[in-house]
Amino acid sequence: THDITIKLADEAATLKCGAEIAKVLVPGLSIYLHGDLGAGKTTLVRGLLHQLGHAGKVKSPTYTLVEPYQVQLSGGSLNVYHFDLYRFIDPEEWDAAGFRDYFNPSSLCLVEWPEKAGELLPAADIELLLQVYEAGRKLTLRSNSAIGAALLTRFNP
Ligand code: ADP
Ligand code: MG
Repeated sequence: THDITIKLADEAATLKCGAEIAKVLVPGLSIYLHGDLGAGKTTLVRGLLHQLGHAGKVKSPTYTLVEPYQVQLSGGSLNVYHFDLYRFIDPEEWDAAGFRDYFNPSSLCLVEWPEKAGELLPAADIELLLQVYEAGRKLTLRSNSAIGAALLTRFNP
């Protein structure tokens, strides 16, 4: 597996990139977003969710840890869970809150700050890294599973 790196000149480019990722998604995926505060993780998720047909707001669930969405994907409804684990501290909360069950073959999980949950999270299919680069951002995509790799071959940034 090899990394794909894309330059994102401005916020619009980050939104567009999220939309392009949305076009190759399948149910059951988990995608983890790495990068510092302000790197553009939520912006990318916003572009992705809008492409999937979500018309409303997308804001990072900093205090609630997860925000659920329901969208349509190839004729069926898809549950999308957007996690922001920046403030996650209590491992016992993971199962108590039912988070484990959110990762299932018919959902899509997008996770900001996955490192905060340590070993609790299952392995990601795709890992994204956003970094400040020149006046914009740089995105690195890496697949971690066969399905993730297949998806990235169809991805057309
Ligand atoms: P994070 O979720 O990683 O903390 P956000 O998505 O909230 O970051 O984005 C932080 C800021 O970065 C926003 O003001 C957004 O407009 C800006 N931004 C996103 N992508 C780019 C880009 N490619 N170039 C410049 N600014 C960007
Ligand atoms: Mg965020």
